[in-house]
Amino acid sequence: MFPIGGAVSAAPSFNQPTEQDLREFIDLSLNLLCIAGTDGYFKYLNPAWETTLGYTREELVSRPYIEFVHPDDRQATVSEAAHVVSGRSTLSFENRYRRKDGAYRWLLWSAIVRAERGLIYCVATDVTERKCEESRLAAQYAVTRVLAEAPTLASASPRILQAVCESLDWAVGAIWQVEQKEKLLRCVETWRMPSAQVEEFDRGTRSHTFSLGVGLPGRVWSQAQPAWIEDVTCDANFPRAPIAAKEGLHAAFGFPILLGAEVLGVLEFFSHEIQQPDARLLEMMSAIGSQLGQFIERKDSEDALRVYARDLETARRRAEEATRAKSEFLANISHEIRTPMNAMIGMTELALSTRITREQREYLNTIQGSADALLTLVNDLLDFSKIEARKLQLDHVGFNLRDALEDTMRVLAPRAHKKGVELACHIHPDVPDALTGDPLRLRQIVVNLVGNAIKFTDHGEVVLRVQAESRRNGNAQLRFSVTDTGIGIAPEKQVVIFEAFSQADSSTTRRYGGTGLGLAISAQLVELMGGTIAVESQPGRGSKFHFTASFEVQRLEAEKQVSRWRTLTDLPVLIVDDNATNRRILEEVFTNWHMRPVAVESGASALATLEKSVHANQPFAVVLLDGHMPDMDGFAVAERISQDHRYAGMKLVMLTSAGQPQDVARCHKLGISTYLTKPIKQSELFDVIVSAISQPLVERPHAPRLRKKSQPAQRGLHVLLAEDNQVNQLVATRIFEKLGHQVTVVSNGREALAAVQSGNFDLVAMDVQMPEMDGLDATSAIRAWEKTTGTHIPIIAMTAHAMKGDRERCLAAGMDAYTSKPIRIRELEQAIAELINSPSSAKVPVSKAEQTDGVIDHAALVAGVDGNRRLLREIVRLFLADCPQRLAEIKDAIRRGDAVALGRAAHTLKGSVGNFAAKNAFAAAQRLETMGRDVDLDTASDACVTLESELALLTEELRKLTMSSSIRATRTDKGGREKDGQGPASALPDTSS
Ligand code: ADP
Repeated sequence: MFPIGGAVSAAPSFNQPTEQDLREFIDLSLNLLCIAGTDGYFKYLNPAWETTLGYTREELVSRPYIEFVHPDDRQATVSEAAHVVSGRSTLSFENRYRRKDGAYRWLLWSAIVRAERGLIYCVATDVTERKCEESRLAAQYAVTRVLAEAPTLASASPRILQAVCESLDWAVGAIWQVEQKEKLLRCVETWRMPSAQVEEFDRGTRSHTFSLGVGLPGRVWSQAQPAWIEDVTCDANFPRAPIAAKEGLHAAFGFPILLGAEVLGVLEFFSHEIQQPDARLLEMMSAIGSQLGQFIERKDSEDALRVYARDLETARRRAEEATRAKSEFLANISHEIRTPMNAMIGMTELALSTRITREQREYLNTIQGSADALLTLVNDLLDFSKIEARKLQLDHVGFNLRDALEDTMRVLAPRAHKKGVELACHIHPDVPDALTGDPLRLRQIVVNLVGNAIKFTDHGEVVLRVQAESRRNGNAQLRFSVTDTGIGIAPEKQVVIFEAFSQADSSTTRRYGGTGLGLAISAQLVELMGGTIAVESQPGRGSKFHFTASFEVQRLEAEKQVSRWRTLTDLPVLIVDDNATNRRILEEVFTNWHMRPVAVESGASALATLEKSVHANQPFAVVLLDGHMPDMDGFAVAERISQDHRYAGMKLVMLTSAGQPQDVARCHKLGISTYLTKPIKQSELFDVIVSAISQPLVERPHAPRLRKKSQPAQRGLHVLLAEDNQVNQLVATRIFEKLGHQVTVVSNGREALAAVQSGNFDLVAMDVQMPEMDGLDATSAIRAWEKTTGTHIPIIAMTAHAMKGDRERCLAAGMDAYTSKPIRIRELEQAIAELINSPSSAKVPVSKAEQTDGVIDHAALVAGVDGNRRLLREIVRLFLADCPQRLAEIKDAIRRGDAVALGRAAHTLKGSVGNFAAKNAFAAAQRLETMGRDVDLDTASDACVTLESELALLTEELRKLTMSSSIRATRTDKGGREKDGQGPASALPDTSS
């Protein structure tokens, strides 16, 4: 140990404490030491008692000590004393002793008895400060908890008063609110301990108001600070003093509810005892006052927020109603616009089919073009409003991706060709084909993107590419991209163009036309398909729009058969095309079919390559020639090839351009029977190559003879037209008459029902929206009536509605077919043809005997394959797989009035049919081909019906024929893949094994 302060002093000497030492020890002790008698009196007390309680020791020993104990603690004190007397010491007993000034002190006791002397030796510590701190903390905690839990100030107020009173053991509390207008304090809440007898004070408090500075609350308000009164009964500024005195209330404190510097209210509390000011308690209560202020502010803003949220909800509901009203308005207005447009388009079509001058035809064509554009706009607006109102739902139907996209590209091809822009479609081999989704909406997106690309590109190419991005749980996420080499889009415009009605540059737009809705609709459709859309572009270099979309993969798609390509394996093919993208696509397609492609970029290199192949003795089986190439075009190359006897065995396939009938004529002139229109459909390419390398099995008949018992003509039907709009009545009547039918007009559903019941009609054309009884109800009534007569009259819906579900509603009501206005002659004709010739129609009974009459010349057929049944089966399989598609193309071409497409499709089908010595079917196809070539489609629909029925018979016969060869049956689709569908391709022999 080191001496303190460096000074060396002697250690104090201490042996045994003397009596003097012990007395000093007791007298100087800060603890309260005493000896009490078991008789209930203090016998000895040290001086600390006098300083703690303010009594002299004489006063303390003169009375039983229990009299100094707080009345509430007396019972516990007596029983504790009894414990000690019985011989057990106490270590931690607490009670309150009254000071001489009336206040109480908390004492913590240890005591031991000397029973033989009748004395208890005690040590007590003044723990008042600790006890106070505990109750202050308890009060603060309780108030904080109330503030956290209470939903409103009204529910918090009584609980705060209770929490403070109970924690501090004070008798009564009150809350006062500042009334700013009246400039006074009004009591809003009181609370009192159940044991406290303070009713009158409580009542007085509730009925009182205080001005600034008056009474305890007024004082707290004016000073904005806590205040303490030791004894209110002696306070000069305490108007309630008389009642307080009457009910024994003494000490009081109050504190303000503060928000910043502003006093919002006051809290006050009263005790039955006189109490010294407790600065620490006031400090805590100040904090509680601020907390309360914040609570009130928070609740106020919550209330404001609630009001705001309610207003917002009302506004949202109103906005939704407005959107609904808007979309209904748009649907109605588009209906209203369609009605006069129906007249415009219908009448124009009719006028175009009459004998008119070239000038008049030009005018009418312009009207028709404008009407079509207007209809597109109306449809766009309707789509957009449906999407905005979240009313657009996607279809969920099975479709063939390649067909859907390639058909779409074909529709767009003439536009591209007109501008000299190359149009190509590249679907990666990994992309699954049989999907489930909404093909029409997918088409809509592609038409918009590719249409834009063509619109904004003057040179170069537009390419649609599709890749499979991922496959999971039977779904495929596909990535589509449309690349062009056009004007491009400035970076700052690349985001806005996806918004409705926005265009990258209004000056260019005026040049190119458009509404700025296409991309907005596409973006929304893509989102509905679970994908995203984006653009990359460089002004002057071109743009690439890409989007993803998710589709369900049809189950059987997974089991693609490799055998499909067997026929083409190792077939050497020369591709001649100046466009690099096309060359790449074709090379990839052929490689994928296991062929051996060689691609060259010009006529000259084609000829050089062919020359080399002859020398190497490795001739090409097929040459695929692009008709349009610079320098030496495909036709020139074809001419050179056909003149060279060394290439006699080689097949030529010409790639022609859309909308170029002269291309076809040139092919005919050069004797090239196989040609394809760009952009190429993979399925067509496949079929064309297969048919090019297959030899015809029988001589084609020179003078085809029509079947004697052909289908009944669709002319001369008696049509009942139910339509309320006079213009529409006129248009529809003229169209029916144009188709050779006779029309009776009624103007509502009730009249239609009566007419059907009394008249003799072959067909009803029914408008949906009509006064009195609408078309749906009329149809239901007709169908109900027919149950009693056993008849069935075909009903075609003619509706201007364009909402999803209309078709379903019409069919559900019992209609047989559906056409939407504006009525197109070809569509209506097609619908009638399908209806009148459908097996369900009672008008066209076809007997079994008729059906099989001379369909196939069996002997010729078997002779044609030299008795090779296996070969025959292979040919039948290919034909059956292909036939429905060809027929669909023919119908489509007729519907669109596309003579070139009709000629091409009929030609291909005719070639296939010829293989089976099926004379009638051959003749029907040939008739259509001639119509296509002569651009005379007037009776094409009739011819198509004949062809269809012939094909049905042929299919049935072929099926029987191959079945009789006792080969295991497997169902395949047109590509040779297994299929679960119905129709002519069903139940076919699988000959690939
Ligand atoms: P619209 O073509 O009817 O104006 P869209 O929404 O389809 O409406 O396109 C919006 C705008 O985006 C177009 O007006 C054009 O400015 C720009 N745009 C779209 N596609 C292309 C493209 N391939 N190349 C250049 N600009 C394009």
